[in-house]
Amino acid sequence: MTMDRTIRTAGELVGAGLVGAADEQAIARVASRYAVAISPTLARLIDRDDPHDPIARQFVPDAAELTLAPEERADPIGDGAHSPVAGIVHRYPDRVLMKAVHVCPVYCRFCFRREMVGPQGLGTLTPAELDAAVAYIAAHPEIWEVILTGGDPLVLSPRRLGEIAKRLGKIDHVKIVRFHTRVPVVEPDRIDAELIAALKVSGKPTYVALHANHPRELTTEARGAAARLIDAGIVMVSQSVLLKGVNDDADVLAELMRAFVEMRIKPYYLHHPDLAPGTSHFRLSIEEGQALVASLRGRVSGLCQPTYILDIPGGHGKAVIGASAIEAEGGGCYTVSDFRGNKHAYPPKD
Ligand code: SF4
Repeated sequence: MTMDRTIRTAGELVGAGLVGAADEQAIARVASRYAVAISPTLARLIDRDDPHDPIARQFVPDAAELTLAPEERADPIGDGAHSPVAGIVHRYPDRVLMKAVHVCPVYCRFCFRREMVGPQGLGTLTPAELDAAVAYIAAHPEIWEVILTGGDPLVLSPRRLGEIAKRLGKIDHVKIVRFHTRVPVVEPDRIDAELIAALKVSGKPTYVALHANHPRELTTEARGAAARLIDAGIVMVSQSVLLKGVNDDADVLAELMRAFVEMRIKPYYLHHPDLAPGTSHFRLSIEEGQALVASLRGRVSGLCQPTYILDIPGGHGKAVIGASAIEAEGGGCYTVSDFRGNKHAYPPKD
């Protein structure tokens, strides 16, 4: 079958050969609970013959999502606790999240906001809510950076994105506008001259953080979309989630981070998976994550090193959770481990 539109239902997943007919009912139950969307670009990337395909694992619903673990929660990173007005999360003094839209071009099965996004989610800000969100930012001179996330802000039309960018551009104390998106990977053709012009904020740097988790997502088309953004003067960073069965492998992670750097995208965050409902099959232990991140040291250039972070449940912000290479021995002496795991005294004893 041709795949020229986004797959959204269990029946369409079966029709596209992504789910077996025997599983249709269970998958329909998952889809009635958590939004499903697989763009044509992604559907074409999935290898139907590989039962462990890393693209399928990220986007094709799985009956395991119906299993809730006791530690999971609807709002794992605590957005609600820090939302002074609709669409704004003000967790850190100098920056806010602005969630103008709770729709995504694809729905990740491990999504940390899966209870908020999708057709049954929080929707799009009304004009009055958007006015109130912009007024909140304007009234708080400590806000240096506005991070548009959601949902995926790049699903908005260039006209609406341009309006938001213009309004933020007029607030003197906002110096940086950052968009978090999957669009360059999942709908690369959307990144055209009109959309790029809309993202640029007059007199202020625009940053775009690209979410991708496996090197196979970084196709020629995705690379072209990122190049168009960067050539237009937009700075790009990456964010990835460390996911069991997708990228919990030192070679895959190294290839992903190198690919970002080759695309002129600086690896930024590698997130430990959040405690989102029905996602325990994606979670690895912190120790496993630390070992994988440590394996990147020495193996790939310093440019390719992401920061391994955990969003502390309850809304307490991000913590850097990579294992430390240095241990205090007292008296100003330390033991430091090199990238091969060999230990050295600091300062040297001889
Ligand atoms: S793109 Fe982001 S917000 Fe949307 S489903 Fe994926 S993780 Fe969730």
